[in-house]
Amino acid sequence: MNRTVTAGGPRVLLKRLRELLAAVMEPQERLDRIVREIAGNMVAEVCSLYVLRADSVLELYATEGLNPGSVHLAQLKLGEGLVGTIAASARALNLTDAQQHPAFAYLPETGEEIYHSFLGVPVLRAGRTLGVLVVQNRTMRQYREDEVEALETVAMVIAEMIATGDLARLARPGVELDLRRPTSFTGKGLNEGVGLGHVVLHEPRVVVTNLVSEDIDAEQERLETALGSLRLSIDDMLSRRDVAEEGEHRAVLEAYRMFANDRGWVRRLTEAVRNGLTAEAAVEKVQSDMRARMMHMTDPYMRERMSDFDDLGNRLLKQLMGRGPDQLAEGLPKDAILVARTMGAAELLDYPRERLRALVLEDGAPTSHVVIVARAMGLPVVGQLKGAVSMSENGDAIIVDGEDGRVHLRPQGDVESAYAEKVRFRARRQQLYRELRERPSMTKDGVAVDLLMNAGLSVDLPQLAESGAAGIGLFRTELQFMVAAQFPRAEEQERLYREVMVAAAGKPVTFRTIDIGGDKVLPYFNNVVHEENPALGWRAIRLTLDRPALLRTQMRALLKAAGGRELRVMLPMVTEISEIRQAREIIDREVRHLSKFAHHLPTSLKLGAMLEVPALLWQLDELMNAVDFVSVGSNDLFQFITASDRGHSMMAGRFDPMSPAFLRVLRQIADAGHRNHTSVTLCGELAGRPISAMALVALGFRSISMAPAAIGPVKAMLLELDAGKLRARLDAAMAEKGAEADTRGVLTAFAAENEIPL
Ligand code: PEP
Ligand code: MG
Repeated sequence: MNRTVTAGGPRVLLKRLRELLAAVMEPQERLDRIVREIAGNMVAEVCSLYVLRADSVLELYATEGLNPGSVHLAQLKLGEGLVGTIAASARALNLTDAQQHPAFAYLPETGEEIYHSFLGVPVLRAGRTLGVLVVQNRTMRQYREDEVEALETVAMVIAEMIATGDLARLARPGVELDLRRPTSFTGKGLNEGVGLGHVVLHEPRVVVTNLVSEDIDAEQERLETALGSLRLSIDDMLSRRDVAEEGEHRAVLEAYRMFANDRGWVRRLTEAVRNGLTAEAAVEKVQSDMRARMMHMTDPYMRERMSDFDDLGNRLLKQLMGRGPDQLAEGLPKDAILVARTMGAAELLDYPRERLRALVLEDGAPTSHVVIVARAMGLPVVGQLKGAVSMSENGDAIIVDGEDGRVHLRPQGDVESAYAEKVRFRARRQQLYRELRERPSMTKDGVAVDLLMNAGLSVDLPQLAESGAAGIGLFRTELQFMVAAQFPRAEEQERLYREVMVAAAGKPVTFRTIDIGGDKVLPYFNNVVHEENPALGWRAIRLTLDRPALLRTQMRALLKAAGGRELRVMLPMVTEISEIRQAREIIDREVRHLSKFAHHLPTSLKLGAMLEVPALLWQLDELMNAVDFVSVGSNDLFQFITASDRGHSMMAGRFDPMSPAFLRVLRQIADAGHRNHTSVTLCGELAGRPISAMALVALGFRSISMAPAAIGPVKAMLLELDAGKLRARLDAAMAEKGAEADTRGVLTAFAAENEIPL
């Protein structure tokens, strides 16, 4: 008979483990007693725990049944033997005759040759393997499903022991556990800057005291209540009027609703609670198993589905732990570096800015909302860093380098001091830039250039004084819409615009009317059709002319907020001059309306257009005559001229905006501005890089607008530049016949010869 009776079942075992965890004893003794308890409870002759070390070796840490002399001596490499296979694949192995398995490796020191049946489970935490827990029997028995489940549950408790550092003292000097291993990753730098600090996991993680339940029925009830509220909250979100009838947001919510009722998921949660875990620990366990499987999954569709379950798990944890925004600040270190799989822009704004040093995301693109907001907050950001969450523990030391996209987790001393030096160097440079702040922004040959900054939220405003910008050249009004849960009311818009103008204290501010559509999606706004090419679709001025109420409300808010001051407004994504005329009619009507009711009006109104669509290049004179000023949106203009998606990682850097083709376009625009006496600004990313800013000034731009952090470096360049001399060099290079001139090379050589800091 192969059937074996478990002595007391998993609940009794977990209760015993809880007592052992609470008792005061040496870590080795605690481990020895734990494996003895497990063996006894599961009626197994052997129970062994292997722990994964930083050098990818699994070391036997405790055993009941194998030769006690082999503890800390028996070792297997990751992927080697049954234990190594379990660790590498993060999956359990349940074998009636282990020695017949092709991966079986014989370790003579352990004396395990007399055992046949074998059950091993990975010790997982947040999807990451920390070790392997094994039971063995002499007979060729088949372990039952509930026994596998029980062993996995126990493994979770052990994972927590490893994670809390309980076992670290058992490691030989110089041989760290894998969990403490310094790890470096490379992702994508999404915002410049270096942050040194300590990990704060954005999503809650279960704490050890919560793992083992005292009262199973009460935990079951908590789980059911939380599941009930989770389902209700999803239904509630779905029934809200502002959720589009169709579209991505709705599809995601519907998938959530389906999953929240998924019988398999709910059954696994219930089983974990029935086995003696608390409701939180049960969610964490099911999540951890899923994440481990997700890591080994290549099918993108399946990964996506798994990550939906993961999100749902996080929501459920929040329900159970009742964590609200005010608890966020509690216990947050002063140098917090947020690590998240994904995060909404509004969630980031919930954290107190003064305690944040950087942001790390497992996903994230340069144009994702949270990244735009992080940039506005001046936080270094690294994104597209798979595995960042499971590799990190709250409180781990971490360094984030937004420049080259490197993240160093638990860095070694030398890495830390190198970065501390880098931070000091940056601080010295910042000091230098601050000293430049009062110097007139003029080239060596006397060309005055306005250095303006881009902004979009009230968090940006302090940067105006800090950076020494001459004003705000681009205020992206859509950001307020993007971080809100619904359309900001007219009064809210007006309040923000007034706040901006007050902060600007007389410096000019150019407000851009909402530029939504394309990659700037408002979850509460119902797009009428599915778009194959959103960048070329219903966006910006096209959308606001079709929905004039949006433009009217915004214009009224702007006009009221600018009472007694000059108001500068510009229109995004203009393609035809007639669009400017139509917008002007709407604006004029608002002005008439407000003056009829004796509102305090702006002293003057300047209307501008953004030059982002190539079609305008063949109507430059008409354009310049139709507006008071033009602002080149080089991000979009370059994407359309080169037909390369600005948010696509494989297109990034593929074509060069400093090539003769694009430089000629820019020169043509600047010339048209001079010819028509129309002021021309450029407010795309090109303005913020010293090399391209240098080219812009040489080509005739007298005003450029950039991220506030770029003003210092650009000014340092400007003060050393002879614009006339560079213009001659560039004109000559662009006039060369034959092979395409290396204009970027000309720019770098010029800077080197003239000691211009780039
Ligand atoms: C641009 O396109 O260059 C621009 C400044 O606008 P945005 O980046 O907001 O599209
Ligand atoms: Mg644009």
